Amino acid sequence: MDYLTEEQQNLLKASLEEKRDRLLRTARQTISEQLENRDNVPTDTIDLSSDESMHVTEHRLRDREKYLIGKIQKALKRVETGEYGYCKECDGEIGFPRLKARPVAELCIDCKEEQELAEKGIAEKRVRSDARTMFK
Ligand SMILES: [Zn+2]
Repeated sequence: MDYLTEEQQNLLKASLEEKRDRLLRTARQTISEQLENRDNVPTDTIDLSSDESMHVTEHRLRDREKYLIGKIQKALKRVETGEYGYCKECDGEIGFPRLKARPVAELCIDCKEEQELAEKGIAEKRVRSDARTMFK
């Protein structure tokens, strides 16, 4: 990430760390709130299914948070190894403005757009072939 000044690197690193800490805080808070709420539920309304749904919520939350935290940690690792700031597809510079807006970005804007177009193309193709099967 030679193209980034030390100041820019520090700023991006601080932003990543801040995001990660905030996510960890929110995750902990949400889970403890859910536990508290469960304690407030009158005992006669507690059944297995509500316990189950609570478990699912927690699980889902952890998955989402885990995913985001994982992304941030991967980015922080790339900061350490010096790979940070370069596109995973074309090795081009992602650019400071884009990184500042999205510190976990792994693709440059061109590759990102291409990826999105490809995804959209796949989705459209799927819809078209579904339609064909439907009207056979
Ligand atoms: Zn690229």
